[in-house]
Amino acid sequence: MNKIERDRQRNQLEYELQYKLSNIIDNIRNQGIRDISIAQVHFGPEVKEILRRYTYLSYVVGAEYSASKKKMDYFPTAIDLQNMRMITDDYYPRIWLRLNLILHRNDVLLQKYDFVPRSELSTNYAVTTIAISLITRAISRGTVSELEQLQTATKRIRVKTKQAVIEGDVLVWTTQQDELVCPTCEELDGQQWAMDDPGLQEPPDDAHDNCRCYLDIIPAEESDISVDELDFEEIELTAEEF
Ligand SMILES: [Zn+2]
Repeated sequence: MNKIERDRQRNQLEYELQYKLSNIIDNIRNQGIRDISIAQVHFGPEVKEILRRYTYLSYVVGAEYSASKKKMDYFPTAIDLQNMRMITDDYYPRIWLRLNLILHRNDVLLQKYDFVPRSELSTNYAVTTIAISLITRAISRGTVSELEQLQTATKRIRVKTKQAVIEGDVLVWTTQQDELVCPTCEELDGQQWAMDDPGLQEPPDDAHDNCRCYLDIIPAEESDISVDELDFEEIELTAEEF
């Protein structure tokens, strides 16, 4: 999984999720539903299933990216499944909150507002925002959590073998580097954190809705800081053993 492949999958997932959520909105609209709780009864399970599926797929994109950076294979763990559930549970009510806002101002989900691209009353805008943010969040969580889990595994190996293992993967805030990048994210672009830094910032939560940024990874093996910290004697000893 390289950056190009990650971006390709991300764009595909984003497109599909927007499309599926837009279909739901169309159905609500076509049935003339004016009450959000009725909409939730009719479409809630379907919306939840869609969110669950796209959280999973996006999370795996992030996790596979981390695993490939550490030259490992990715397998979903209980921690991953719990993370995915948390994201779905977080975004599910957000959709209904957005739609409730639109319904309250208009009585129905009027289509005319959908031609005003960034109107709060545009259902397209609401759907797009949810889709982009959920996918950004899921990829980011997958990236960070997998890296954390791999580090724990690496440390265990280190204790056992007493080999010099370089620790300290670095996370780098990375924008999409296109014309849509906003000043907030431009400012964050290139900022680096150690894995265990409590000040670590994650997109989209530390930026804004609609954020499409990533946390890129500099594996400890490639980072300059870690090379300085290495115990070179220990490396030579290790080399002799082989
Ligand atoms: Zn961003």
